[in-house]
Amino acid sequence: MQVQAYGAYAADKALEALKISRRAPGPHDVQIDIAFCGICHSDLHTVRAEWAGTQFPCVPGHEIVGRVSAVGAHVASHKVGDLVGVGCIVDSCKRCPDCEDGLENYCDGMVGTYNSPTPDEPGWTLGGYSQKIVVRERYVLRIRHPEEQLAAVAPLLCAGITTYSPLRHWEAGLGRKVGVVGIGGLGHMGIKIAHAMGANVVAFTTSESKRKDAKALGAHEVVVSRNRDEMAKHAKSFDFILNTVAAPHNLDPFLSLLKRDGTMTLVGAPATPHPSPGVFNLIMKRRSLAGSLIGGIRETQEMLDFCAQHRIVADIEMVRADQINAAYERMLKGDVKYRFVIDNASLARA
Ligand code: NAP
Ligand code: ZN
Repeated sequence: MQVQAYGAYAADKALEALKISRRAPGPHDVQIDIAFCGICHSDLHTVRAEWAGTQFPCVPGHEIVGRVSAVGAHVASHKVGDLVGVGCIVDSCKRCPDCEDGLENYCDGMVGTYNSPTPDEPGWTLGGYSQKIVVRERYVLRIRHPEEQLAAVAPLLCAGITTYSPLRHWEAGLGRKVGVVGIGGLGHMGIKIAHAMGANVVAFTTSESKRKDAKALGAHEVVVSRNRDEMAKHAKSFDFILNTVAAPHNLDPFLSLLKRDGTMTLVGAPATPHPSPGVFNLIMKRRSLAGSLIGGIRETQEMLDFCAQHRIVADIEMVRADQINAAYERMLKGDVKYRFVIDNASLARA
């Protein structure tokens, strides 16, 4: 079946309207009419080939929400009409220890929602900037938020799980001091989720203008990271810092804020490396520097249910398909509060 989509034919070309084909649903497949799709900074890194291996045409989008419009004969957990979501994963090997542990995100055979090898046309996956998608049942998530919030739920499928998973793994919660660096799509979700987990949350930003917002998002304190005196007040005090920044920067000023045995986890994935941190900053207090990749399917469902229970959604600005290129430019300037979400109905007119 042919559907309308929005994507790019080359790294130096703007995104434009195009037609793509979707397979007919197989026995284990769910077909989804996409209502909304969030714009993640990873979409921009991929479309502009800032990371290696982008295939063109590239249709990004892995923060997908919509309604089930068809199911295969063996599908048991979703039916036509259900509100569902699809995040960054549409398939995996299902046999390795990572898949068996529900951590498909770490499976070597993980198939990303876009730009991953697939037997479907054209040979790599095409994402959620499109009218419909067909996905195996196992990778389709249930949405329990009220339908009016559907657009603001979309960013949970990547920004939500990418922050929830490390916050859970490194035990953000009551009595723990947690930092979130960078208040963008990921960072603003990290603040909300860490707050709901009961942590004492400090937000770090380079944008003075976000100071007030960060408090409203749930930060107990806000630090403008360029201000040395503000940073110094928090020296050696954090249990955990989640770093979401999309550009290379000096990690040492943040590492020195960790207390003994504290960890800073990088989820931001800049195209070029951060300068290597000073060894003494790690060894003197037995600090750890770590990384984390999205989250598994079971944990993504847990995150969606946690957010529904705590009434957490993203702060969004809705855009039409023909505004995606402008949205990318604004995202690069940090000018988004705090996630662009595409109204996929606009694809029919794009
Ligand atoms: P975003 O909305 O653009 O937010 C990034 C934030 O980083 C900005 O709002 C800004 O916050 C801060 N920042 C500081 N200096 C910056 C600079 N020079 N350039 C850009 N940002 C700067 O991006 P996002 O969608 O949250 O994604 C953040 C990063 O995480 C991206 O690299 C993305 O590819 C990656 N990512 C990783 C995973 C994973 O699984 N690990 C999943 C999704 C995304 P302030 O204004 O507050 O300083
Ligand atoms: Zn993403």
